[in-house]
Amino acid sequence: MKIIDIHCHIDRKERIVQLLNSMKKNCILKAVLLSWELNFTDAKTKNILEIAKKYPSYFKVAGNIKISNNKHLDKDIQNLKILAEDKKISGIGECPLGYEPYFANDKVYYKLAEICADNKIPLVFHTGDVWTDEKTGGIRDAKVRFAQPLYIDDLATDFSDLNIVICHFGNPWMIDAAEVMYKNKNVYADLSALDVNKPWDTGTKKRLLEAIEYGQCSSKLLFGSDFPLFPADQQIKRVKSLGLSKKDLELAFHGNAKKLFFRT
Ligand SMILES: [Zn+2]
Repeated sequence: MKIIDIHCHIDRKERIVQLLNSMKKNCILKAVLLSWELNFTDAKTKNILEIAKKYPSYFKVAGNIKISNNKHLDKDIQNLKILAEDKKISGIGECPLGYEPYFANDKVYYKLAEICADNKIPLVFHTGDVWTDEKTGGIRDAKVRFAQPLYIDDLATDFSDLNIVICHFGNPWMIDAAEVMYKNKNVYADLSALDVNKPWDTGTKKRLLEAIEYGQCSSKLLFGSDFPLFPADQQIKRVKSLGLSKKDLELAFHGNAKKLFFRT
């Protein structure tokens, strides 16, 4: 089975070797490096583009900006637009809902959605649980209500040609994420990091399967490891354990990722 990992973070430069080794070990052919303009030192768009440049056949990069307390917000949005137009980035995200105090239907995300729609690249949102333990790199004052996936419906409705990815399937608001996917053909969800607060084998897997069934969205899933936070082999095993059809499993492991991020 061909695998593309759409959810990787490079929090420091040296991680790239570790990521390549993990990809090789787990037969992952390609990956999307998501920018994170908040706490990780090397996770900024500029750094990631520089790192990924050396491995063009392996990686695509999603660019990002910091929103709160950013005096250069308009300029940063303009720069992101240029990167998209120059085809340097293959998506925008992971937009850190909850870590930044804005809902997905805030006007700033409308601006990012417009850039993505114009350049036919996906917009990627962190949703659900937030990581607040500062000792391990979390953000203490993150506010989880902003990470509710339901607000993504506004963007998905108003930009019907824009592909949107709900990271972490909105966990714990999985039914809400599934409803947004059910209603909008242009909304997908990744299956990364679903067991932050609850053990996978008890509540989480059961809720996920119920949500997939409710939203009839088994063909709109994407594999993501959330590297370096979770080991890829464990995450692969979990996706395989969902009992998806062969066709949906192929879409989750590479078909949807190819369509969304690896068009060129
Ligand atoms: Zn995330």
